[in-house]
Amino acid sequence: MDNLIKGWEVVIGLEVHAQISTKSKLFSSSPTNFGSDPNTQVSFYDAAMPGMLPVLNENAIDQAIKSGFGINGKINKISRFDRKNYFYPDLPSGYQISQLYYPIITDGYLEIELKDGSKKIINIERIHIEQDAGKSIHDLSPDFSYVDLNRSGVPLMEIVSKPDMSSSYEAMQYVKKLRTILRYIETSDCNMERGNLRVDANISIRKPGEGFGNRVEIKNINSIKFLGQALDYETERQIIAKESGEEIIQETRLFDSNAGETRSMRSKEDAADYRYFPDPDLKPVILSDERIEKLMATMPELPDSKKERFIKEYEISESDANVLIEDKKIADCFEKIVASSKFSASESAKLIANWMIGEFFALLNKEGKDIEEVEFPVEYIAELVDLIIDKTISGKIAKTVFAEMAETGKSPASLVKELGLVQIQDESVIKSVIEKVLSDNSKQVEQYKSGKTQLFGFFVGQSMKALHGKGNPEMVNNILKELLI
Ligand code: ADP
Ligand code: MG
Repeated sequence: MDNLIKGWEVVIGLEVHAQISTKSKLFSSSPTNFGSDPNTQVSFYDAAMPGMLPVLNENAIDQAIKSGFGINGKINKISRFDRKNYFYPDLPSGYQISQLYYPIITDGYLEIELKDGSKKIINIERIHIEQDAGKSIHDLSPDFSYVDLNRSGVPLMEIVSKPDMSSSYEAMQYVKKLRTILRYIETSDCNMERGNLRVDANISIRKPGEGFGNRVEIKNINSIKFLGQALDYETERQIIAKESGEEIIQETRLFDSNAGETRSMRSKEDAADYRYFPDPDLKPVILSDERIEKLMATMPELPDSKKERFIKEYEISESDANVLIEDKKIADCFEKIVASSKFSASESAKLIANWMIGEFFALLNKEGKDIEEVEFPVEYIAELVDLIIDKTISGKIAKTVFAEMAETGKSPASLVKELGLVQIQDESVIKSVIEKVLSDNSKQVEQYKSGKTQLFGFFVGQSMKALHGKGNPEMVNNILKELLI
């Protein structure tokens, strides 16, 4: 085991709650929009008025099935809803409808990449569908607490991994990968800031070869960075406890991101504590082969296959492919740019990947913009790269053109003309400029010829300066070599 920490093996399993992208709640027609005024998206059913009955949102079921394809899972043709009973002020019915015994998806997996580039399979036990609860608000009044039921009944998928991860890094990679997949399939927007993806992290430690230790569950983590921090803290805490002879008790803890530590919340309930039973108001969900096949046909290319295709088709490196496929919008943009280059993909794609990952991403970062918000058509990147490939401009001048393009929204070709940036390719022009540079620097030429060859860079710099940066770099190099013999 290469993952041991002070002789201990870390065991991590994650329960990820992802809000299903669908217009209405799981069992009512109330909308699921984010940011509406409190209690404006609450039907009688969501408020648990007596006699109200659930009506299943079939689209939420379809979305869960597609997510099941996304994680290579088994789609169960019969699944069933159970009531999970507990009291909480933001849960007016006194129970949450979930799937315990017969979840809709079982036995999936996804592949993550480790630091050394190797791959690891993380198995996924199940995806089940359940309702979200409302929200208690304690900080609006010194005397009262409030309840907002807008989230009550919002459809969630709970995606439960096997305890297959053995470091905080693996856990973070897993969540990132899952998020990429769900975003590709558009079954959850996985917006962590809005609470649309929340993680309960289970962690225990053991000596290699021993059975599983007692697990601690860290609830409701809403950022990947916090997930890493919480798991690192908890690993350390459990090791210190065990090494001083304490037992780890099975409990639920909270991560306090300000203090950077986990704190005990309550001892952990077992399933039996919730008195689960089949919901008598809901029929089992029975899926026809036809429905499953229809959904299968709507599946987009998934990140792993896209990556493989990018490497093969565009001959780009694995690390570039990793960056480009992480977000489907970026992957699509890359392909659009490659398609609009006048050169073949094998001539232009590598350079386009460089420009996207380098200058273009730096620009997006600097301006805090999304790829759709840039002021120039992305095809201009192809135009710019074409100008480099056909040697109209050098790579260095292209950076100036890119900056101007970002600033003005003008096309690279028109900027090159307007600013007089066309590369000088005329050998005789370059030669005469260089001859002058050499005669102006005769002392250095002498030193060079007597063995101080590191001066070559100096001559390149002076020549380029004299050519206003527009000399074809290859020609400048060659002519200098020729003249300096
Ligand atoms: P519960 O809802 O009670 O937390 P679940 O079955 O939904 O139970 O989730 C259990 C999670 O805990 C799974 O992700 C599983 O991989 C993980 N897990 C189980 N045993 C251990 C363990 N000993 N150490 C770490 N994680 C564990
Ligand atoms: Mg749990």
